[in-house]
Amino acid sequence: MTSTLVTGIGELVTNDPERSRRDQPADLARLGLLRNVALVVADGQIAWLGPAGKSPEADRRVDLDGRAVLPGFVDSHTHLVFAGDRAAEFAARMTGTAYDGGGIATTVAATRAATDDELRALLAARVAEARAQGTTTLEVKSGYGLDVDTELRLLRLAREITPHTTFLGAHVVPAEYRDDRTAYVDLVTGPMLDAVVAQGAAAYLDVFCEPLSPHAFTEPEARMILLAGRRAGLRLRVHGNQLGPGPGVALACELGAASVDHCTYLDDTDVDALAQSGTVATLLPGVEFSTRHPYPDARRLLDAGVAVALATDCNPGTCFTSSMPFVVALAVRELRMTPSEAVYAATATAARSLGLSRPLAVGAPAELAVLDAPTHLHLAYRPGVPLARTLEV
Ligand SMILES: [Zn+2]
Repeated sequence: MTSTLVTGIGELVTNDPERSRRDQPADLARLGLLRNVALVVADGQIAWLGPAGKSPEADRRVDLDGRAVLPGFVDSHTHLVFAGDRAAEFAARMTGTAYDGGGIATTVAATRAATDDELRALLAARVAEARAQGTTTLEVKSGYGLDVDTELRLLRLAREITPHTTFLGAHVVPAEYRDDRTAYVDLVTGPMLDAVVAQGAAAYLDVFCEPLSPHAFTEPEARMILLAGRRAGLRLRVHGNQLGPGPGVALACELGAASVDHCTYLDDTDVDALAQSGTVATLLPGVEFSTRHPYPDARRLLDAGVAVALATDCNPGTCFTSSMPFVVALAVRELRMTPSEAVYAATATAARSLGLSRPLAVGAPAELAVLDAPTHLHLAYRPGVPLARTLEV
């Protein structure tokens, strides 16, 4: 077992408020910032954390020359397993074509036609891209198969790179079921779900609940699918309230979902339900950026005491970025989060939505990001600059 001593840490974000000075504002205090500390990493875990002057011996030493270190980003909402390209659809949208979810069918056709090895290579490239920008934990959804075999295939491939896999057979109603939606809901809640559960292929079930899209699922359909998933032992996530006001957020809170994602259009009842249920509101501002759509109001949620996470929603249709630093910068500029709130949302709260709770401390996994900058503030202060990467030790 090789141990590595990490020195020269300009600022360490621990996400442990117990470590903060009492006189800091709340958003900063939550990050548990430490200075003049060093770390020892051994066997993939933090083995020691303490004052830089008292660090123990280790086999190797990495000096970061004043750079900031933080828990790696947790991208808790991605659709990384797919084939095909929708750049032309993006270009059309930028000249005025509205998004309604219909383009997903293009990706479904390309993904069904791709081999496992082709999909594996595409997935590996996207994972490498995310890691190169400081992401250490990924959730990955299926949802571009929409038949039993392909959905299982996508989840198996996702499982090769992460335990945080989500069954999204209810992404859209595929073209072949357009005239018989009930039969598709029966397929998702029956043979498809049974196969996913039998193979242990998913930890979560997700539904695109959006009555404004003719391709997505209504409240009664989404409820049926979520209840079937819960009965089968899967935890729940929901795509809700993306394109307009709708029932997705209320349904997610009622059914105890781990997270409801998008949350762009909320009324006061939705905000109260989120604050009381403990369901995490995961905001995906890269989607609003890439669809030229109004942004969600993170400030309103945070002020109401809602747990707010940030993720990319990396997908070929509405947001093809794997960059959590970009999402953090957007959240600060467009969602009115403070830089510290955005970093906490992209690490600690996103982790919580995946059932992970691990402030940076001895015994925690050494899943860290390092910035070519002295503090976490630079993530939002220097948008578009490649400051973040995974710290490989
Ligand atoms: Zn999504």
